[in-house]
Amino acid sequence: MFTVLDTHPILDHGYVDLLDVQAACVQEYDPPCSCYDAAIAASARVSTGGRVRRPDHELIDYLVRNRHSSPLEMVTTVWRIKLPIFVARQMVRHRTASINEESARYTTPSMDCYVPSLKRMQGQSVNKQGSGETLETGKAQRAQALLSELQGRSKEVYAELIELGLTRELARLACGVGTYTTWIWRTDLRNLLHFFGLRCDSPAQLEIGLYANAMKDMIRPFVPVTLGSWERHV
Ligand SMILES: Cc1cc2nc3c(=O)[nH]c(=O)nc-3n(C[C@H](O)[C@H](O)[C@H](O)COP(=O)(O)OP(=O)(O)OC[C@H]3O[C@@H](n4cnc5c(N)ncnc54)[C@H](O)[C@@H]3O)c2cc1C
Repeated sequence: MFTVLDTHPILDHGYVDLLDVQAACVQEYDPPCSCYDAAIAASARVSTGGRVRRPDHELIDYLVRNRHSSPLEMVTTVWRIKLPIFVARQMVRHRTASINEESARYTTPSMDCYVPSLKRMQGQSVNKQGSGETLETGKAQRAQALLSELQGRSKEVYAELIELGLTRELARLACGVGTYTTWIWRTDLRNLLHFFGLRCDSPAQLEIGLYANAMKDMIRPFVPVTLGSWERHV
């Protein structure tokens, strides 16, 4: 089993676990930098043979401000994430991450399904991409009931297909994109920040935004200076 450094529940059945943050050890580091911030600064100093004498937090601010991003790749993060398949389809587009996902061929999926809250039952926004106002109560309740019904039926169909003896790799066709999956997601800090830049705010979809923002909050104590600079300059 993994050691979990931090965890955060997301949506109705999902979560994000921070499993690991890695960087080369540095012997000394001064607040406000963490040891991970200091590792970024130490990596950057290799470029100049250690001649740059400015404090670590100033050097990191310079690096982030000027897009000298390779030292940020020296910090690696590992996460375990339970997320609906439609969110996973958005997240998998971040191609620089390494992923290992639970297999619905080798295991029986939990068949947990995401049912949005009544408040989240929003209409189409005017720009055609995102969501607009919450539907009026009766329509929101009906939308929620329809989705719950469909997902309940999915579970029944899956169970019946397995009962019939159908292989799991085909029975999973009963799962819709609201079904949860779980994966290990590993990425370096440079690409994690790029992910935050694309997914923390509008126009990213609310659901992936909840994951991205939770991950941003969870990584902050590990790289306070680097994240602070990134928020100021990017
Ligand atoms: C609001 C929003 C809406 C979106 N809508 C759609 C959509 O409708 N359909 C759709 O298919 N996708 C959509 N996407 C996904 C989007 O096109 C990107 O694939 C996704 O955001 C990942 O961005 P990225 O390629 O920069 O990140 P990563 O894949 O993590 O790549 C990081 C960086 O590495 C470099 N890189 C990676 N791969 C290559 C490559 N093959 N060639 C050159 N450089 C590379 C680039 O510099 C890239 O910025 C959407 C994304 C957002 C945020």
